[in-house]
Amino acid sequence: MQKTGKITVRGIVQGVGFRPFVYAQACALGMAGTVKNLGSEVEIFARGEQFETFLAAVSRGSPLSRIDSVEVTTSLQEIPEGFFILPSGTGSLTGMIPPDVAICGECITDIFNKGGRYENYWATSCVNCGPRYSIIHEIPYDRERTSMAEFPLCPVCEQEYGDPGCRRHHAQTIACSTCGPDIGLSDSLGNKVEGLDPIKEAAELLDAGRILAMRGVGGFHLACIEESADELKRRLGRIEQPFAIMVRPDYIDRLATISRQERVNLESQIHPIVVVKKRDPTAHAAISNLHTIGCMLPYSGLHHLLFSHLKHPLLVMTSANMPGYPMITDIDQAMAKLNRDADFFLTHNRIIVNRCDDSVIRDGYIIRLSRGIAPKRTAIDLGKHCILGVGPELNANATIYKNGFAITSPHVGNVRNPATLEYLQETVRNLQRLLGAKFDVIAHDLHPQFLSTRFAREIASDHGLELVPVQHHRAHIAATTTEPCIGIAIDGVGYGDDGAVWGCEIFSGQVPDLKRVAHLEPVAMPGGDLATRFPERMLYGILPDNTILSLLGARGWSDVELGVLQKQVMRGFNVMSTTSTGRVLDAAAALLGICRERTYDGEPAMKLESAAVGGHTEPWDLLFTTLNGCEILSSRSLMQTACARMRAAPEEDMRVIRDIAASFQYNLARGIAHLAMHAADREGMKTIALSGGVAYNHAIRETIRKEISVHSCECVINADYPLGDGCVSFGQCVYAGKLRR
Ligand SMILES: [Zn+2]
Ligand SMILES: [Zn+2]
Repeated sequence: MQKTGKITVRGIVQGVGFRPFVYAQACALGMAGTVKNLGSEVEIFARGEQFETFLAAVSRGSPLSRIDSVEVTTSLQEIPEGFFILPSGTGSLTGMIPPDVAICGECITDIFNKGGRYENYWATSCVNCGPRYSIIHEIPYDRERTSMAEFPLCPVCEQEYGDPGCRRHHAQTIACSTCGPDIGLSDSLGNKVEGLDPIKEAAELLDAGRILAMRGVGGFHLACIEESADELKRRLGRIEQPFAIMVRPDYIDRLATISRQERVNLESQIHPIVVVKKRDPTAHAAISNLHTIGCMLPYSGLHHLLFSHLKHPLLVMTSANMPGYPMITDIDQAMAKLNRDADFFLTHNRIIVNRCDDSVIRDGYIIRLSRGIAPKRTAIDLGKHCILGVGPELNANATIYKNGFAITSPHVGNVRNPATLEYLQETVRNLQRLLGAKFDVIAHDLHPQFLSTRFAREIASDHGLELVPVQHHRAHIAATTTEPCIGIAIDGVGYGDDGAVWGCEIFSGQVPDLKRVAHLEPVAMPGGDLATRFPERMLYGILPDNTILSLLGARGWSDVELGVLQKQVMRGFNVMSTTSTGRVLDAAAALLGICRERTYDGEPAMKLESAAVGGHTEPWDLLFTTLNGCEILSSRSLMQTACARMRAAPEEDMRVIRDIAASFQYNLARGIAHLAMHAADREGMKTIALSGGVAYNHAIRETIRKEISVHSCECVINADYPLGDGCVSFGQCVYAGKLRR
């Protein structure tokens, strides 16, 4: 018997080849009817004998789709003979469009297919791959609402677009060298470099050691061969900072050891930068002087073509922007701002609507949530309100909660300057438009001076909305679990309830009732931010004694400088108090002479971790005390032990440094785990949640996890969001939702 019905599919069902998929299923099952995009949903009218089978197939969805719900209602609408894809209409905005997808294997084959119509075409894509979020202006997802709108299809593309048997049936990004976006090469003055094939010319310039600015999927990269890495870092003034590389797939095993899971991540449709262990920790030091290196595989047609011409097996690649500033996406801006950094520009004329840096993953944990992952959509019940979380200051992004889903934007950057603030505001506007969101609650960091806090206040006062301030480390825990738990937040700095600089906090309870029950010993940060830049100041803040004074004296500090530092700490003048885990690790790096000046975010702690690899660990005495009802782990005691071990060692022995570095991390982690376990025992909790940027440190995270499991507690770490501050906007939404439900 024939059955007729209306099927509404919600979720990520646009930009994922859903309509052609439905069409193919309908044809195979002899169904009559229509399918169309409506708002961000898909609406199907269908009639046929095999309605239930068709419904089951539709509910499974196309490979890239994510289906939240499928609703079937009876329909009296007249259904045509045959099956048709109809033009899109407006409707409710319950869904989301997908992140950008790395080029698929079939499209790579098309590019290298001799005589094929996509041969050598850099922007080849299909319904299963290509840019999505980075090119969309509006929903529904159709070509006219993307930056592909200005490239009308040629007759052959038109024919493929309309052909149900083709992989590009209704592929909104379909394009070829006749009708699609072009690519061109110019010098740093904007003069066009003549030649038949700009990508081949660019590869030759790279092979010759020149530095190239390249417009990619989500923004500009600067690229060069390994031999030019020093020159690129010199031009950017980032001598010490590790850069990522894009590697020819057959070469990656030669420079790094890749686990099975890391390979899965490298080759996933995200194609992120995966931070992996170098085979030889001292090799490729011009790219990264750590024991790790960030690697990614070519992820667009452009990259594959470039590597097909390139003689070198890898390219150093870095986002073209000042650290913490938004990635450059616009050609004119790139020519104006990068003309001293880059020798040549390889650019295309497809506008980047929504910027996306490369995502970064280490040990399966997201360091930067961006291209291929964001917009990130999570089903979670946070009640009836529509909530905006504006994030913290560093590594910020934004999250919007609406109707059972939290959607997190790509990485925005350090919201410390007007340009990045503007980008945050733009990101919020774009997401809001795509979601049709009308906020009634705005969640923000407790820090009163953050630009993001001011932004939150502005929106709230303009529209009469409720503000919910969320303490930084509670947001970390809220992003990890909403179950009752002991929460460990270990990171750099965050504004505490008492206005002090927090950074190693143990909470007990359930979001939003998270009581601070333990923390690291508060120590002096002489000179505030100066102590972050020069970790030797932090070292003296933790251990203000003559041993450290004479160590600093031997390293070239003048008597005057030492006198000022000494007085500063003694009188508490321009000294902040901090419980930061990051600052303690910085100080250990300073003690061991591993890092004396921080030139990029996290540098001393990252170098300490590298220096500790392979080191022998010994358990040190841990000193616990109590302060205002909270249990305290003494960082001073740990530093004293490290100092004593160093003084007992023969001069200049790198193995001793390695062992002390390893033991310091091990005992700090063990102490933090013990704070949490003591709290778990007192409160009768069995679950311990872990978050914060310090948890990226492999040795520290795994020590904490092991100690907790020995104690028969469960350690919960959320791998779906960054452990660092990229989870904070999501955590703010969760916290505010639970508070206001
Ligand atoms: Zn494809
Ligand atoms: Zn074409």
